[in-house]
Amino acid sequence: MALHVEPLPLHHDNYAYLLIDDVQAQAVVLDPTEGAPVLASLSARGLRLTAIWCTHHHPDHVGGIDALAAAVPRVEVVASVHDQKGARVPRQTRAVDEGDTLEFADVAFHVMAVPGHTLGALAYVGGGQAFTGDTLFLGGCGRLFEGTAAQLLDSLDALAALPAATRLWVGHEYTVRNLEFARLVEPKNAIIEARLEAARALRDAGHASVPGTLAEEHASNPFLRTRAAEVREFASKNGAESDAPAHILAALRRAKDRF
Ligand SMILES: [Zn+2]
Repeated sequence: MALHVEPLPLHHDNYAYLLIDDVQAQAVVLDPTEGAPVLASLSARGLRLTAIWCTHHHPDHVGGIDALAAAVPRVEVVASVHDQKGARVPRQTRAVDEGDTLEFADVAFHVMAVPGHTLGALAYVGGGQAFTGDTLFLGGCGRLFEGTAAQLLDSLDALAALPAATRLWVGHEYTVRNLEFARLVEPKNAIIEARLEAARALRDAGHASVPGTLAEEHASNPFLRTRAAEVREFASKNGAESDAPAHILAALRRAKDRF
């Protein structure tokens, strides 16, 4: 496979990603927070930018589009059908939705609609990699800005059903803080403790915590564990209306918002 992925840490804690086709010396950039550092990375690697893929409309994920489009005329800008209706992504040229496929570096990337954080949130999944934006983080999930807990539950369930070895590239470096919350929810879960130590060591050494794997999330991310007894117990002590997974998720999310 010609594809490889390079995370670009931008702003305070954002990740943009270069999807690189080494054979064709081409790249897609996903969620360009800002333009100049992306252009510098492309130029340093001798890559031609073919497209910009957006997971959602928030400014820290689309802020670089104008600068990139100015430097690379006719670059394709892909975002959701929902965000196109609201003209929420600058210079969008292509609208995609659940079930659509994008080809890059001989890999078919499947578009998943994953509403919750925003109503038009997308994930891009292909070649054993998933780009989950602000829907699924390592050890956590995004805030509910536009969608309902039931929508986010369905979105997280759909991501959780991907192969366990899927590598997850997420929108922010929130891993340590997320795992600190996960430990509060499940103090007896040794996998959370081990992951927290590993993530802290990576960050202390100046490295990114991405990518993670879905298998690790199944074992330690409370937002994917709304059916686990200890998670349900924490949620019911923190205001969950019932044992329904959407109510558990809503209570967890509220507790994390206050954490
Ligand atoms: Zn966001």
